[in-house]
Amino acid sequence: MTADQNKLAAALLPQFVSIIGADHVLNDPADVWPYGYDNSRKHTQPEIVTLPSSHAQVRDIVQLCFEDNLPLVPRGRGTGTTGASVPVKRGVVLSFERMTQFIKIDVNNRVAVVEPGITNQAVQDKIGEAGFFWPPDPTSAAFSTIGGNLACNSAGPRAIKYGTPRENVLGLRAITGKGEEIRTGVYTTKGVVGYDLTRLILGSEGTLAVITEATLKMTPLPQSKRTLQAVYKNIGSAAEAVSSIMAQPVIPYTLEFIDGQAIEMIRKHSSADLPVNAGALLIIEVDGQEACLEDAAQAICDAATNTGLLELKTATTQVEIAALWSTRKALSPALRNVAPNKINEDVVVPVSNIPALIEGLEKLSRKHDIKIVNFGHAGNGNIHTNLLIDSTDPEQVTRSQLCLDDVFSLVLNLNGTLSGEHGVGMEKRNYIDREIDPVTLNLMKEIKTLFDPHNILNPDKMFPDSL
Ligand SMILES: Cc1cc2nc3c(=O)[nH]c(=O)nc-3n(C[C@H](O)[C@H](O)[C@H](O)COP(=O)(O)OP(=O)(O)OC[C@H]3O[C@@H](n4cnc5c(N)ncnc54)[C@H](O)[C@@H]3O)c2cc1C
Repeated sequence: MTADQNKLAAALLPQFVSIIGADHVLNDPADVWPYGYDNSRKHTQPEIVTLPSSHAQVRDIVQLCFEDNLPLVPRGRGTGTTGASVPVKRGVVLSFERMTQFIKIDVNNRVAVVEPGITNQAVQDKIGEAGFFWPPDPTSAAFSTIGGNLACNSAGPRAIKYGTPRENVLGLRAITGKGEEIRTGVYTTKGVVGYDLTRLILGSEGTLAVITEATLKMTPLPQSKRTLQAVYKNIGSAAEAVSSIMAQPVIPYTLEFIDGQAIEMIRKHSSADLPVNAGALLIIEVDGQEACLEDAAQAICDAATNTGLLELKTATTQVEIAALWSTRKALSPALRNVAPNKINEDVVVPVSNIPALIEGLEKLSRKHDIKIVNFGHAGNGNIHTNLLIDSTDPEQVTRSQLCLDDVFSLVLNLNGTLSGEHGVGMEKRNYIDREIDPVTLNLMKEIKTLFDPHNILNPDKMFPDSL
């Protein structure tokens, strides 16, 4: 944003106040500062923060920004990891913290309609009372908003069986970058009239439209669950087990993977009880009707068993389940003990290519002398690849960037994708033309221009500098 645009934003303050009231427009530097960062730790202070409480107020704010070419960044709770909600051109932040209403729960049609500022956990709690859940379950559920989840297509361990927001949203109400009101999708579980704009907007990181309402597809809560922990002597055996599990009919509720480096760290920095020669570990859950669960768990145990299996534990009580998950939960604190900083990527490869990915990452770790720790959602081939570094050491930073470049080449050569759930934001925008060909990328840019002709919505995100 130019100095003139910032002056303009300040000059338009009374108009923002007339739309939402003086108490809901912030422009004091101390007040707007917290709206300038996300979990990427990048920061740019916005000029103005607006806190609307209704769809109509959002529409009026977007219209005002459209008429005056002011950059506008929608914001949930700033838990994103790619800088997607950082207002790089300053301008106006549109924060959804006052739009947290449950509009409707329709049990007979398994539908919930919500405002975008409500947290994922608040949705789970409310629909849980009616015996349902909404499958997307990012670890940040207690803080992150439905608007942010939809804009990033965020998911978690349950995606393997129940999918991401793209499989669990029926429709949207939104405002385009021209300030036009649109409704996308349907209220039914089938519908094929017109283009699928719902799935286009999901994952678009606030660059096409501002979501003001979401119609979510609810799923009945499973009656029961079993949790298993399988420890293998090496990554090859664990990967073989993942392929066998995915090749049989019982789809796990979760299928999480931890590599040997991560196990070593957990052993050093926590009291988790793991076999000495453990080279990889899977945490597997199955869900369903209690009467069917023994058979389902047995089918998973059979598929998980191979010559490299060292130990297979099953937990049924809450205490036992918590003990098995404690290994996975020990990871984040352990990472913090090993290096001051981490570059946290979330690459994806086809499940059958996980062994080649891990083997390739081990080679890159040695080549660039950068410690790499891997864990993640094996059932989707979505691996959180953590490059552990000390960012105060410029030489290490340079090596880590070269290593990252090689990691992305490796992933693309294995028919994978650069991000499974964190998205592009600022962090990966200059890499996406390695995954998407120029013609397709240009078409995406044209779509962006149709939705947002003045390029006010979350500018300088998603697309490379060169486009
Ligand atoms: C501890 C931690 C754990 C995490 N675990 C996971 C995980 O397991 N899986 C996962 O996928 N992610 C995870 N994340 C990343 C992050 O939580 C998700 O991307 C989340 O969906 C962001 O939600 P938010 O409300 O914080 O959105 P923000 O970070 O505020 O915004 C994210 C993007 O959404 C856009 N946006 C927000 N609201 C709207 C709206 N109403 N309309 C249009 N665009 C909008 C913003 O412009 C921005 O581009 C984690 C983050 C942390 C800090």
